[in-house]
Amino acid sequence: MTTLRLGAHMSIAGGVSQALDRANQVHSNAVQVFTKNNRQWNGPPIDVADIRRWQEQMPQFGIEYAVSHASYLINLASPKDELWEKSQRAQQDELERAHAYGIAHVVLHPGAHMGSGEDAGIVRVASALNRIHDRTPDCADTITCLELMAGQGSTLGRSLEQLRAIIDQVDDAHRVGVCLDTCHAFAAGYELRTADGYTSFVADVNRILGPATVKVWHLNDSKGGLGSHLDRHTHIGEGEIGVAGFSHILNDPHWDGIAMLLETPKEETLEEDRLNLARLISLVDDPDRIPPGLR
Ligand SMILES: [Zn+2]
Ligand SMILES: [Zn+2]
Repeated sequence: MTTLRLGAHMSIAGGVSQALDRANQVHSNAVQVFTKNNRQWNGPPIDVADIRRWQEQMPQFGIEYAVSHASYLINLASPKDELWEKSQRAQQDELERAHAYGIAHVVLHPGAHMGSGEDAGIVRVASALNRIHDRTPDCADTITCLELMAGQGSTLGRSLEQLRAIIDQVDDAHRVGVCLDTCHAFAAGYELRTADGYTSFVADVNRILGPATVKVWHLNDSKGGLGSHLDRHTHIGEGEIGVAGFSHILNDPHWDGIAMLLETPKEETLEEDRLNLARLISLVDDPDRIPPGLR
């Protein structure tokens, strides 16, 4: 039985599969990637040779899990038809690319309603997802994971209830999951620093979303305070959450097998990733839960 799956978002410079080499360099067993440049609408054709390399290298490097993150440009909540349609095509492309690599989960920011209101935005996101699902029956095993957001501006997904409201309007609920980001959750107002706060957050997650809905964690410390709605990531233990918050998550067997990935600032040497991963591992009480490659 897999226990902890830990890693970081890695650059795809040189090809998507190069992210696996970087994950290996920091001795992690999980990785997050973009399957194309995340700041462009259109990517290059899917590189079959790179997919072959990905499939060979993943087991060789002991990477047990990979997730992709969709482009930041996508806004499935947009009230403007042109951007809404473009976003649907882009998210469809994200699913198809992930599917080609055998990646089961695609993390997506739910979107921003841009003044049309939360209810209208939620309807828009769910109906976009339904259209995308109708167009991609072959990618049914590639799941869109709606990310819990810090709630800046008109961003949707700033509460568990809002994520639930979107999922409730998706016809095929098997095709959506959730990604919990510690920085976003804390900035949205969920207390993670205390044992009581963490316990009540997890109880809410289980009650509102259901225990199987969470597919991915992002472990980021937060520059902003509790309820600040600021989406600013910082190194583990150096932000407002602090190490205690991460210790609650890491020592909870509830999350065994679910990948936890850093999205913290770093240089090309990946030294910051090594440091943050070491900090996370140092918080794990039971050494048997730490995979051999990570010890
Ligand atoms: Zn994200
Ligand atoms: Zn963030």
